[in-house]
Parts: sequence; structure tokens; C-alpha cells
Amino acid sequence: MITVNDIYNARETITDTINNTPILESTQLSSICKNQMFFKAEHLQQTGSFKIRGATNKVKRAAQEGSSFVTAASSGNHGQAVAYIANQLGIPATIVVPEDANESKVNAIRSYKGKIEKCGMTSSERLPRAVEVAKENNGMIIPPYDDPLIIAGQGTVGLEILEQIDHVDVVVVPIGGGGLISGILTAIKETKPSIKVIGVEPETAKDTFISLQEGKITSIPPTITIADGLRTTHPGTLTFPIVKRFIDDIVLVSEVQIKQAMTFVLQRMKQLIEPSSAVTVAAAMFDKLGVYDKNVVCVLSGGNVDIQQLNAFIVQ
Ligand SMILES: *Cc1c(COP(=O)(O)O)cnc(C)c1O
Repeated sequence: MITVNDIYNARETITDTINNTPILESTQLSSICKNQMFFKAEHLQQTGSFKIRGATNKVKRAAQEGSSFVTAASSGNHGQAVAYIANQLGIPATIVVPEDANESKVNAIRSYKGKIEKCGMTSSERLPRAVEVAKENNGMIIPPYDDPLIIAGQGTVGLEILEQIDHVDVVVVPIGGGGLISGILTAIKETKPSIKVIGVEPETAKDTFISLQEGKITSIPPTITIADGLRTTHPGTLTFPIVKRFIDDIVLVSEVQIKQAMTFVLQRMKQLIEPSSAVTVAAAMFDKLGVYDKNVVCVLSGGNVDIQQLNAFIVQ
């Protein structure tokens, strides 16, 4: 397991590349939730999500160890992050995406000079292809969450929250493969264990929820949710033990609650976040957290929305 020292090291490695993102507040949501509500604005991060933190930590170390090529199997925020940092470091990157990958995401990867390779429709087809691509180019595959350097990079979000807000009581974090929450848990529980950390998943993608109930990594069938960053079918082998050890609570939100939260943030807070981020706001808005009169920080994990799809995410 990683320690908070790994997260301090990650911070040194990535500090020149990433933004120390601001904390936002909402008086209106604070009164709805009966808590003082804060938001860690990773949708304002380089490449539009926190994924650049872990990717930068991993790719910089790979470069130091002599790697001169990287690849990732992701059409989403992780693929963009790997393409961006590889380009910054002058290392070629190939991102393996599904055949039906969304054009705006593919274009974002291309804008960072990442080479696109289309392969299959599922991650079980893409991953072996990325392994081959790495071999063919004598390079390294950059995993999206199940890696100590990735987890440590994501954990820097936790360090910043501790420094930016006095007297944090509760931190609310979305869970996909669990890289973000396991990094934040390590940063927070090793520094100030009295702070509660609550995870959020969509009702339709509750693999970590089920795994915690079962006490072991448990797979669920492929899921459908508008929160496309949270569509994992099981937590990671490195992330799950950290989640299991430290998490205080895990709650679920429905698809319509995610849309209502996204709409609220856009309309009232004037911020564009993506559905995977909106789960934390939904958990607060719909009274899932079970805490009152506390300082609550929701992590807004990303803001990459295909503008063509925006209408489908908004409710009146
Ligand atoms: C990847 C991602 C998540 C989930 O992070 P994990 O480390 O996989 O748990 C949440 N929100 C956004 C915007 C993401 O890109």
C-alpha cells in the first residue's frame, strides 16, 4: 500500500504541470444541504480532469527510467491526460480507443498530438491491444487507476483540500476504479483520520458498493450510466484494499439525480461539470450523506462534456 509520503513525492513530481485548483462555495446548496458546502474544482484542471495528476506522476517517472513511448487504453479523461503529458515531455503516445469513440474526445487526444488507434468496443479488447502496442514500441502502458504512482498522483487532491480549507469534516468523492478515492483516503486518513470520506457511485454501476458488502473484489455485469468515468465493472486490486480499510461510507445516486445535480451546478453555480463529477453534488443535494452542520467538500472530478450531448444531461 502507498503512504502519504508517496503522495508528497508525487506532488513534487507534478507541481510544475498541474494547477492547484480553486475551492468554490455555494450559499444556495449550503442552505439546501444544511451543511457548509465547498467544491474542489478539478473540472478547472489541465485537460479538464484530475486524471492529469496520476498520469503526470507515472509518465514522468517512466521517462526518468528511460521509457521513450507510452500508451493507454482509454477514450476518456485518462487518454487525454496521457496524451497531454507525453506531448509536454516530448514522448510519443498512442491512445487505444473504441471503434465508436466520441469524435470530440478523439479530437482532444489529437490536439495533444496523441496517435489514435481504434480497436473493438470493450475494454477487454482494447487492453490486450494496448499491451501489444507497448511491446511493439518498446514502451510502457499507463494504467488508469490500479498503479501506485497513479494512486499517489490522484492523492495530491487530498493534500490540497487539507491545506485550502480550515476544519474539513467530510470529503465526498466519486468512485470508478477507485484511484482517486484511494489516493485521497491515504492523504486524509494518515494526516487527520477524524475527517470522514464518503464515496459515491451511480446506482447502475455499484461495483465498489457490492464489493464492500461482500468484503472482496466482486464484478458486476457491464453497466449503463451517463457518468461514463464511473463505468468500471470491478474495483482495482490495489485500490480496493485501501478503500476497504479507510472508507467511512458509500452511497448511490440515480441517473435523474445526477442530471439534476449537473443542471443545478450549471444554472446556479455557472460551472460546467461532467456527469461523473455531478454524483458528489447529487449525493449532497438528495440528502444521502447523513451529516448536518458540517464543512463538506465535494470533489468535482472533471468537466469534459461533449457539447452535442449536453442537452441530454440537463433537466428543466
Ligand atoms: C476517472 C474519473 C473518475 C473516477 O476515478 P477513479 O480513479 O477511476 O475512481 C471520476 N470522475 C472523472 C471525471 C473521471 O475522469
